Amino acid sequence: MELVIDLEQERQEILKRYRKLLRAAKPLLKDNDAKLIKKAFHLSAEAHKDMRRKSGEPYIFHPLEVAQICVEEIGLGTTSIICALLHDVVEDTHYTLTDMEREFGPKVAQIIDGLTKISGQFEFGTSQQAENFRKMLLTLSDDIRVILIKLADRLHNMRTLDSMARDKQLKIASETIFVYAPLAHRLGLHAIKTELEDLHLKYTEPEDYNFIREKLRATRLSRDRFISKFIEPIENDLREQGYNFAIKGRPKSIYSIWNKMRRQKKTFEEIYDLFAVRVIMDSADPKEEKSDCWHAYSIVTDYYTPNIDRLKDWLATPRANGYESLHITVMYRPEGTDKGQWVEVQIRSKRMDEIAEKGVAAHWKYKGNDTKTGGGIDQWISQVREMLETTRDSKAAALDFLDDFRSNLFAEEVFVFTPKGELRVLQRGATALDFAFDIHTHVGAHCIAAKVNNNLVPISHTLNNGDQVEIITAKRQKPSEDWLKFVVTSKAKARIKDLIKEENKQYITDGRSIIEKRCKILHIEVTHELINQLRAYFNCKTPNDLYYRFGKGYIQQDEIRKFKQEKEAKANVQQAKINTDDLQDGKQFTKELRKIHGERADADALLIGEDMDKIDYILSKCCNPIPGDDVFGFVTVNEGIKIHRTSCPNAPELLSNHGNRVIKAKWTSQQKIAFLAGLKIDGTDRVGLVNDLTRIISNELHINIRSISVETDEGIFEGYIKLYVYDTRHLDDLMKKLDKVEGVYRVTRFD
Ligand code: MN
Repeated sequence: MELVIDLEQERQEILKRYRKLLRAAKPLLKDNDAKLIKKAFHLSAEAHKDMRRKSGEPYIFHPLEVAQICVEEIGLGTTSIICALLHDVVEDTHYTLTDMEREFGPKVAQIIDGLTKISGQFEFGTSQQAENFRKMLLTLSDDIRVILIKLADRLHNMRTLDSMARDKQLKIASETIFVYAPLAHRLGLHAIKTELEDLHLKYTEPEDYNFIREKLRATRLSRDRFISKFIEPIENDLREQGYNFAIKGRPKSIYSIWNKMRRQKKTFEEIYDLFAVRVIMDSADPKEEKSDCWHAYSIVTDYYTPNIDRLKDWLATPRANGYESLHITVMYRPEGTDKGQWVEVQIRSKRMDEIAEKGVAAHWKYKGNDTKTGGGIDQWISQVREMLETTRDSKAAALDFLDDFRSNLFAEEVFVFTPKGELRVLQRGATALDFAFDIHTHVGAHCIAAKVNNNLVPISHTLNNGDQVEIITAKRQKPSEDWLKFVVTSKAKARIKDLIKEENKQYITDGRSIIEKRCKILHIEVTHELINQLRAYFNCKTPNDLYYRFGKGYIQQDEIRKFKQEKEAKANVQQAKINTDDLQDGKQFTKELRKIHGERADADALLIGEDMDKIDYILSKCCNPIPGDDVFGFVTVNEGIKIHRTSCPNAPELLSNHGNRVIKAKWTSQQKIAFLAGLKIDGTDRVGLVNDLTRIISNELHINIRSISVETDEGIFEGYIKLYVYDTRHLDDLMKKLDKVEGVYRVTRFD
């Protein structure tokens, strides 16, 4: 099919649009402004005359529309209109900046220069992007109109995105949500920010977008009825009291509803605040704006109960972007229903409303000044300028700067990119591992490291805005419990837990068969009783825990042999032991002691520290004897021998009434002069570490432990042991031995 273009009809359409622009600009025009605009229009139309947009339209439609947005939606004046008309001329045609300066003066040339500089696409994830962004902000601090025209340009491009190829659409839409919507927000251009966000959604999540739009359309009638019933009494009162005002019910943006549904995991029907009611007071005297707003507040709350927690007073302290308003949420129960509903009411003056919608440009209008902007914005721009001045030229600094700047715009999200430049929005604080799971569970599960902006980083690396992230995987990599500590997204957390659960099942099965096989080799019968003994020996809470540790290799198979040997050794000792169960008095016991001790001088005394293998004795808890204390042994009825201090509160009673049960006891010679020492042990935690340590201290070296406290955190072991040693050589010897224990990293003394 041949495309027939009626050039005359097109010329008429161009003129029609130009006149529409002039009509909109008319109230702003002074002196020979109209002449200059005409000149700019003709130059632009001529320069672009052979160019068409992707849609097939004459190119000049675009600069005309951008200029129209500048006037109508941002409230900009003549200079901006001229610049908007010429914004693509230098870049796309044979005209130069010098031409612009000659024809329209230095100011226009400077703004067009700024617009041309930032027209390059943002190459995501590269320092080029940061450079471009930095340039954009530099021009912003020169003249804020550059950024405002750029926003108008972007808005029109987003409105006409349909004719673009799909990949271009996604790229432009991502860039819009990444850079332009936040900028519009920061500049207080609420309407533009909202439209940019909605359009972004339309192209990135078309199904969601259409779904919500249709829902809003379908529920519109009932919503309108609801709103008009709600505002009726307020309207009546305000009118009776002689106020000029406007009240409207405004649906929330599709993007904000979508966000709410996603964040709060709610259906469309569950979102109650689909709209807000706005009361706009047209105050006769600017001084009365605030009191008029509060008056309206009092009328609203006469009829509806407010939720005090949700009162926001931005009248007293406007937001950083200059927003002033009074927000309240009230309870409304429509007549004939029994279901109350919260309704948000925004109250502000006409001036405040215009500033809320049009932002900075409206500030100028009310300040009657073409270059200065409103309070919060002024401050912000001077902050931006400061930041720019502290990050000169270097590319790394530019990236840092971009990140700093963007983190100011968005507090809750982090925007990152795949190697292909695809945008991913994650929760702030997200790590490379979160990103990996966001890509795909499989990628997450096998993630071993990442490249962020081409630097190799660990999976726990926290991502920053604008980072380009490439995940490195390895087949052998498996998720571990530790991973839960460095992910923040609920998606990654849930996936890791699932994967671990899945794997644990396998380890438990493996562990069980390892134990069974090894026991068979060692001729140990696997019984319920045996499993329980193993469980206790290896310090596991449950049999599954035991299997898991074997399956995982935390406990080596050979440990079962050790277990067997120790069990047998214990059984032998048991046979050589004095059986305290049969002993009822001290004399009998002393006889037995002599048998063990033979000819030594103190053969009739129980030697604390040496006899522990042969006699069951314990240090009594009532007086906690320590080496050097004067002590005696007491033969109890059921609990073997207890060692008490002679100064024990119970000693008089025991010694006088049960003298026959008392035996001599003394500390082994070297321990008479033992002193208290503290050891700090650092290492990596493993099952049985404490056991191994105490075994060496008390069993091998026969040193009394006064106290032991152990803390483990993320696999790091930190133990404090207080014990009695008789000299430093003894202590050094002990420290050397402890140092050799597997997992121990350092043994030091402490006081
Ligand atoms: Mn353009």
